[in-house]
Amino acid sequence: MGGKRKSLQTLLTTTDYRPPEGFAAFPTAIHHASTVLFKDVAALRARNWQDKQAYTYGLHGTPTTFTLEARLAEIEGGSHCLLAPSGLAAIAMVDFALLKSSAELLVPDNVYNPNRELAHWLGQDFGITVRFYDPMVGEGIAELIRPQTALIWTEAPGSVSMEVPDIPAICRAAKAAGVPVALDNTWSAGLAFRAFEHGVDIVMQALTKYHSGGSDVLMGAVITRDKALHRKLEMAHMRLGTGVSADDTYLVLRGLPTMKLRFDAHDAAARKVAAWLKARPEISRVLHPAFEDCPGHGHWKRDFSGAGGLFSVLFDPRYSEQQTDRFIDSLKLFGIGYSWGGANSLAVPYRIAQMRSRWDGAGQLVRFNIGLEDADELIADIAQALDSLA
Ligand SMILES: *Cc1c(COP(=O)(O)O)cnc(C)c1O
Repeated sequence: MGGKRKSLQTLLTTTDYRPPEGFAAFPTAIHHASTVLFKDVAALRARNWQDKQAYTYGLHGTPTTFTLEARLAEIEGGSHCLLAPSGLAAIAMVDFALLKSSAELLVPDNVYNPNRELAHWLGQDFGITVRFYDPMVGEGIAELIRPQTALIWTEAPGSVSMEVPDIPAICRAAKAAGVPVALDNTWSAGLAFRAFEHGVDIVMQALTKYHSGGSDVLMGAVITRDKALHRKLEMAHMRLGTGVSADDTYLVLRGLPTMKLRFDAHDAAARKVAAWLKARPEISRVLHPAFEDCPGHGHWKRDFSGAGGLFSVLFDPRYSEQQTDRFIDSLKLFGIGYSWGGANSLAVPYRIAQMRSRWDGAGQLVRFNIGLEDADELIADIAQALDSLA
């Protein structure tokens, strides 16, 4: 500055101060950035946005987002990960990465409903052929695969009706036909189902649920082991601009150390509540993968090591929707709302027959997220709410 002092306005905008080196702490630092600075023009020209060893622009990654991506890949047993601003945005990233007009997409009939909605949109406006398959199809998926089939979605289990598909059988048939399989692995948090070991090519996680655990953040991730698939996903990630905020990323990182402890606590409490409900005359079926009357229970037993906190029940068909709505309204410890994986228990009714091409069940469906409250107090609360049915 040739001795000339900086103006107050410039001092407000920039500084030569650098904090001392050598700070160390457990939490990952929160790096906020749209602009990432280069040391000179040569460095800027040399930089490739796909290089995870360097930084280009906030959208393509910061130390904070790279750290969460690397940790999620490790946890899930994959090698590459991309973050998205919600679980649904992660699903969209997979679809846009792998589908082009006149391609065909196979989606299970019990899929997470917004995934189904996106598939319908791709079918109506983007020239994709979408077919919904019976989630219990198993190796029969081979007969549904055609030369144009470019992607098979799976979900284990379906997060409302809880059928557990035979993922290894679907993956074997898909592999023989050269079609990638994507799995929505949110229900198991990647803890209770080791997707890549069962043949899945792309794992999608709604980090909104167990990874965060706080009911306070939306985020999704897509994890792969295959570099070529990752490159396709990365192009969709860049072209769609699916960036995530540093603060949200930090919230997810903060949840990781306690995730398995929480998941196991949700699991134990949910099984206790589900077992109690199973013995009640008002409930005709408990749709919980660890229970024998859940379709695909055998697959769960063979392939899964746990269950988490989410399950559904079917009420006896003698109860009307009005009555089961009153049951939900009578609950005191359960919130009424979507999502799950947080500390607070939730109950939601679903008009399941309207969500599906095929539904053979009878009676009103209510889905529970069992939180971290005392399980006996949750049971007592459900017991008093069931009295409202009479
Ligand atoms: C919640 C959820 C998603 C979507 O996650 P969002 O972050 O809410 O968009 C996807 N799949 C399943 C099974 C979910 O439960």
